[in-house]
Amino acid sequence: MKCSGAAYIYTIGCQMNVYDSQRLMSILKSSGYEETKVLEDADIVVCNTCTIRHKAQEKAYSFLGRLGKLKKKKPHLISVIAGCVAQQDGKNALKRLPYIDIVIGTQSFSNFAKLIDQVKKGRSKIVDIEPQDMIFEIMPDVSDVIDKGRSRFVTIMQGCENFCTYCVVPYVRGKEKSRTPEAILKEIELLGSSGIKEITLLGQNVNSYGIKENNISFAQLLKKVNHIDSIKRIRFATSYPKDLSDELIFAIRDLEKVCMHLHLPVQSGSDRILKRMNRGYTKADYFSKIEKLKKECPGIAISTDLIVGFPSETKDEFNETLDLMKQVEFDSVFAFAYSDRPIAPAAKFSGKVDDQEKSLRLNELFLLQDYYTDKNNKKLIGKIEPVLVEGKSKKTMRTPGDAEENMKKTIQMTGRTESNKIVHFAGDNIEQGRVVDIKIEQAYPHSLWGTLAGA
Ligand code: SAM
Ligand code: SF4
Repeated sequence: MKCSGAAYIYTIGCQMNVYDSQRLMSILKSSGYEETKVLEDADIVVCNTCTIRHKAQEKAYSFLGRLGKLKKKKPHLISVIAGCVAQQDGKNALKRLPYIDIVIGTQSFSNFAKLIDQVKKGRSKIVDIEPQDMIFEIMPDVSDVIDKGRSRFVTIMQGCENFCTYCVVPYVRGKEKSRTPEAILKEIELLGSSGIKEITLLGQNVNSYGIKENNISFAQLLKKVNHIDSIKRIRFATSYPKDLSDELIFAIRDLEKVCMHLHLPVQSGSDRILKRMNRGYTKADYFSKIEKLKKECPGIAISTDLIVGFPSETKDEFNETLDLMKQVEFDSVFAFAYSDRPIAPAAKFSGKVDDQEKSLRLNELFLLQDYYTDKNNKKLIGKIEPVLVEGKSKKTMRTPGDAEENMKKTIQMTGRTESNKIVHFAGDNIEQGRVVDIKIEQAYPHSLWGTLAGA
């Protein structure tokens, strides 16, 4: 095929967007483009956007502003806004950025190649944000897999129908739809045969996988993935607390490749706020799931998402979130200051908390979490942990007790434990993607230090 030029994709947002960008790049490559990592070299630029919080949306518009300047110098450049902001703003994106050629929503990727063709033939300003019933399937491009030790994302379902009152996802990613097990397994087998060892299955609520389609359950899907020889580790995100079933807890316990780590977003420790968020569970429901999880899967790492300063959240209610953190002792948390999203119902809620108060609460929360992260990391000292090797460490870490001259001779490698903690260790160029046993010697706030067990 004749080369169409160079393609550059700028990705903002979550793991699902990273996955979507890989799919968009596959389409571009099948349309004759080659990937470039240099924006100025590109003949087509895609900005794959996120609108979960105001800041993410502004990051997209700021990048697209820079793109406008490039387009002036390079008028043949095709400029594309894709994903959640495109879906949300549609035609209005063109009002703000008149030099954009294509606005393509989250469910229209199947039309991408056709739209590029139309622009090349002279059609201008195309907006495609029509919801689709079918999930667009395209096999990932594995021609240049380099990071064999890193997790590759595989989206197993799209959309969300939980309608949490703060969240844009149900509006910009549409109705919940699950991919077929056959399509998912075929994709994972392809990734495995190209050397990938770990995959992360993605969905906004993986616990409801296949229910609408009357297909196999998520736990049954995990069992099938567990049988794929080339894959050594399985992760998944995100589990929704109200739908976390016993079947899934047992699958985490029994399937050897499923990592002992669960991301279970709670959002708040106050029942009144949880109700206002429309989360569909209480603090007590959450605790009982955590209790069961810890009983069935001893040592499991648990992480969560939290929002501070949701409309009308009082200081006491915020303190209930801190209390919940003290009770669960999370391994890590992703916490965010509530951000008004005009299309989500909470934007109209009364009792907005001011920005300064939100950042004070956020800082207090992070300080508390540092204590528990440190505590959980220290529990691993002296233990032998299987670590999936990602490659050479970028940072040179001081080997505890090691002299400067020895440091220079020691190659620092890096990898991850099942609980997703970063481990640096002294190793001699160990192959990416291998799982090695590491004795944990030291724990730091954001990483662990260890040595090869038995070395
Ligand atoms: N589906 C997942 C769940 O419900 O747990 C999470 C999806 S969302 C992409 C990731 C996180 O962003 C949420 O868990 C929530 O903590 C945060 N988030 C979503 N909307 C937000 C908003 N308006 N302001 C602040 N944080 C928000
Ligand atoms: Fe958003 Fe709630 Fe759906 Fe998660 S479950 S994507 S927070 S609406």
